[in-house]
Amino acid sequence: MKERIFLIGFSFTGKSVVGQKIAHRLGWSFMDTDQEIVRRAGKPIPDIFAQNGEDYFRKLEREAIKRVSRRTSVVVSTGGGAILDERNRELMAASGMVVCLEAKPETIYRRLLKDAETGTNPVVRPLLTGSDPQQRIQFLKEFRQPYYAIAHWTVHTDSLTEDEAAEEVIRGWGFHTRRPEPHSQPVAPSLPQRKEQEAPYCESPDAACVVKTKTASYPIFVDWDGLKKIGPRLRHMGLHGQAFIVSDENVFQAYGTEVEGSLMESGFKVPSYQLPAGEESKSLEQVQAIYDWMIDSRAERGQAVIALGGGVVGDVAGFVAATFLRGLPLVQVPTSLLAMVDSSIGGKVGVNHPRGKNLIGAFYQPCLVLIDPATLKTLPPRELTSGWAEVIKHAFILDAGLFRFLEDHAPRLRALEKGLVLETIRRSVTIKARIVEEDEHEVTGRRTLLNYGHTIGHALEAATAYTRFLHGEAVAIGMMGAALLSEELSLIAAGEVAAQESLLLDFGLPTRAFGVKKKKIWQTMALDKKVKDKDIRWVLLAGIGQASLRDHVPRGKVEKVIERLVGQPAR
Ligand code: NAD
Ligand code: ZN
Repeated sequence: MKERIFLIGFSFTGKSVVGQKIAHRLGWSFMDTDQEIVRRAGKPIPDIFAQNGEDYFRKLEREAIKRVSRRTSVVVSTGGGAILDERNRELMAASGMVVCLEAKPETIYRRLLKDAETGTNPVVRPLLTGSDPQQRIQFLKEFRQPYYAIAHWTVHTDSLTEDEAAEEVIRGWGFHTRRPEPHSQPVAPSLPQRKEQEAPYCESPDAACVVKTKTASYPIFVDWDGLKKIGPRLRHMGLHGQAFIVSDENVFQAYGTEVEGSLMESGFKVPSYQLPAGEESKSLEQVQAIYDWMIDSRAERGQAVIALGGGVVGDVAGFVAATFLRGLPLVQVPTSLLAMVDSSIGGKVGVNHPRGKNLIGAFYQPCLVLIDPATLKTLPPRELTSGWAEVIKHAFILDAGLFRFLEDHAPRLRALEKGLVLETIRRSVTIKARIVEEDEHEVTGRRTLLNYGHTIGHALEAATAYTRFLHGEAVAIGMMGAALLSEELSLIAAGEVAAQESLLLDFGLPTRAFGVKKKKIWQTMALDKKVKDKDIRWVLLAGIGQASLRDHVPRGKVEKVIERLVGQPAR
């Protein structure tokens, strides 16, 4: 590591004063790019802006950073906007340690007011314009936040004196120089070990939740417009080099450019592969084609596979990540509701075999799940409705509170009202995450609870040759069947069954499968892989939010329920 520290961060985070203190303690020189520009131009910054324009100022700034990158034993304080230029970011990250000095908007505002009383800082005036300066600071800061993520080390200065902040930066320097250079790091022997060492979840305080299984720990982020942050998020996980986007044609057309852009901004090279949209792409042929493409692109160990799309993309790209070079870091970026709350979490990856769905696969946990619910706006409405079934399922099996929340807000959720959708998805992913943590490989039965509605649901899908129902629709009807069966066994009352049906209907989901052949449903159910010792293991309800497993349910009762599901509605 070259003896260079670049300080980045918003105005009034103390870059200049702290920078001088660091330089003094380390016995290095100090350079402030703004001061250097003023010195070279022979006039103050507002004059440069007014007379020569911002572009000219940025050019001088770039040159100053270039020059100082050739010096050693130097601490550099950069102007607030320096990181907006990609060339500056690349140069700083490659030629020294980048440290971000952070402060909350209210702290910055407080310091700014104090400075305005006496100081002559040129940034004060623009920041103070407008009716709500603090909000303006917050807005500007949020905009720059992804760029600050290039930092190797971050110091939160709110409650620190300038000396303490300097001390923290020096501590970071010590830590950083003990670590091998990121690009020359030996390839990690195995993925879980790499994740343990980097403990990414410790550095993810804004994650909706963190999944901690025996083999892995990973954060799930649920952020509106979060696709824009994908580059910095990956950098934060210690990923670099190439990032292989696997997507499908629909999703890539809608979001490919945005994701590529963010990744490239963060210094990734971004080859991309598009599958034809649809379940047929979940095949070994497609896996083979992706392997070929990755070999052609010279994929190396430690480089990430990014699954950008619905459950199909997640399963296929996940399988590729699990197997290529014995495992590459997998980033799930789910864009369908089903994928957000279900398939992207828990590590089930795989493809179909001509003789059966999901017959080939593995358990392979992602290293990161990034959910941007804003992408739901382009999801076809029927797919969106179908996805709600899995959210409702989580409420039925484990969370009566979520059930009431869904009841109260169904129309606004269906209209994708931002705050409500964020809250719902965060709760839903947390339920899935907790189950996966308790039973990663589906051995104790806990994970089986997630199959609520799926025994009949899968049978309905298969009995209608996967053409009549979307998965969630079949599961909705299957959940109705499971509720009716729970009532048959006196586990719940008719009123609870009615409440369940009414919620499913509120979300536009079907609750009956009129006209499907009973015999076909029964036959396919008996072939289902959830059959244990030739008996079906049922996930039933002992109340809303209370799932329970039952073996040896009398066949007569099941047939009666199926009869009700496929029969004509009572007039
Ligand atoms: P999908 O991936 O086929 O997506 C559905 C359709 O929506 C596709 O046409 C896709 O192109 C499109 N789409 C997705 N996001 C979009 C967006 N934001 N804007 C516009 N179009 C968009 O299907 P799915 O329902 O997401 O997933 C189903 C698959 O998931 C099945 O193969 C199933 O086996 C699997 N699955 C896996 C798990 C698991 O744990 N791994 C769990 C449940 C389901
Ligand atoms: Zn499902």
